[in-house]
Formats: sequence, structure tokens, C-alpha cells
Amino acid sequence: MSEQVANQTDIQTEKVTDKLIVRYKGVSKSFGDTTVLNQLDLDIAKGEKIALIGPSGSGKTTIIRMLMTLEEPSSGTIEVDGEMLWHKEVDGKLVPADENHLRKVRGNIGMVFQQYNLFPHMTILKNCTVAPINVLGISKAEAITRAKEMLEKVGLKDKMDYYPSQLSGGQQQRVAIARSLVMRPKVMLFDEVTAALDPELVGEVLEVIKDIASDGETTMILITHEIDFARDVADRVFFLDAGKIAEYGNPEDVLVNPQSERLKAFLKRFN
Ligand code: ADP
Repeated sequence: MSEQVANQTDIQTEKVTDKLIVRYKGVSKSFGDTTVLNQLDLDIAKGEKIALIGPSGSGKTTIIRMLMTLEEPSSGTIEVDGEMLWHKEVDGKLVPADENHLRKVRGNIGMVFQQYNLFPHMTILKNCTVAPINVLGISKAEAITRAKEMLEKVGLKDKMDYYPSQLSGGQQQRVAIARSLVMRPKVMLFDEVTAALDPELVGEVLEVIKDIASDGETTMILITHEIDFARDVADRVFFLDAGKIAEYGNPEDVLVNPQSERLKAFLKRFN
């Protein structure tokens, strides 16, 4: 229980070290004079599901955008599967990574956003095969096999010859998830993937994510305002407040038995 109210230095959890996949070490991010992340330390184990919760503007998206190489940390280091993301080690010193290195490490990461952004002029199947063929360089036949497998997983194999406009928002988001999984990322990032959906379509998308989570292999970082979903899926929940991890732990402790007044007030909004 004492781990719950986080002291920034104790986030390097003992459980994680032998099978580490993502490590943020002393990561800060500022935009101009505004510090949006302040000395973040966060270790994530292979296969672990992490939920980031917290008020708007607390820094959640910035955390995952840095992993996706969309924002550069102002200071600190991020490692993915044993490799520095934003830096390279040259003669024992850290130097900024070049674009090739960034692209290589970023290849381990998949991301699904609020806006699913499928290519409107391509069929569902083609939406799922274009990146593996062009980016991973796998054969068309192999890409099609993988895409069908993932479309099956999200329950949309029968729609593979449709165009995005013929699908509901929930179905399109499920395609976006399949499209990401076809790349076989080591880490999947989900940024409020249900926020833009009509309420009646939220459940089907959350079910698909739960199903993928249950295979145990994919590491997931989920930003969500769906508290029940976070409780069901996450191994650990992190409450971000003003650019810091204010409280973290297993979902029961954090979501059912919050310690800080800030988290109690935050969770009240969902009751
Ligand atoms: P959250 O995901 O928790 O809502 P964000 O990580 O999106 O929070 O944003 C944290 C803070 O950083 C916010 O105050 C936001 O306005 C600011 N911010 C994010 N991106 C930029 C940017 N590119 N330029 C300036 N400020 C930014």
C-alpha cells in the first residue's frame, strides 16, 4: 500500500527489471517555459498492460508521443527493449540519435489514436497490408495472411473488401487496431481510442482491446477515461497529475482505494 502515493524515485519497480521493455529515466519535457513532464521514471515489463489516467493536460499524451518519436524529451532517456530511443551510445557517451536509428527503434512501437485515419480509397484489407509491405518489406502474400489473421481477431474479416466509409466508427477503429497489430509491434499505445466514438460503439472497441490484452504477449500503454476498462485490463494504473506520477499501483488499490485527495476528486467524476 505504501507504494501507492508515489515518490518519484521509487517508480523503478523491483518486479520489472529482468524483463524490461520500456524505461523512462529522468524524462522531462517542456514547451517554452511550461514544464509538462517533470523527471518521469517509469519501467514497463514485457507483456505488461499499463493504464495512464489523469486530468486533461497532465502529460499523458506527451509520455506516449515521446515513445512514438513525435516529441523529443527535453532531458532524460527512454529505452525500448534495451536500446536508447532518442540517443545512441558512441565511445561511452550519449549522443543524439539520427533519423535512421529513430526509425529503427520506432519500428517496435504501434499506436492507435482517437482518430482512426484509415485510407478512404483503400479497402479494409489494403489498409492493413500497405504498411507491412512498404515499411517492413514483407511479401504481399505474407502481408495478406497477417492482415486476415488480425482482421479475424478484431471480428472484421468478413468486411475486408469493404471501404472505410461503409463501416461504423467502432468498426473503423477496430480496423485501425488490426492495422497496427499487423506490424507486430513490441509495444502498443492506445490514446483514448474510444473518445471520438458514439457511446454505443465504445463497448465493441474496448472488448477487442481486452481480447488482445488477454493473449498476454503484447505490451500495452493505454490512456483512457474508461475507469472500469482500466480496472479490467491494466496490471498497473498510473495517475498523472501536473506532469508527475502522483499515485500508482495495481488497479484495485489505485482505483478503488485512492490515497490522495487529487485522485479521489478525479475519480469522483466517473461515479
Ligand atoms: P494529457 O494527454 O494528459 O491531456 P498532454 O500530454 O496532451 O496532456 O499535454 C500536457 C500539456 O502540454 C498541456 O498543457 C498541453 O497544452 C501542453 N502541450 C502538449 N503539446 C504541446 C505542444 N506541441 N506545444 C505546446 N504545448 C503543448
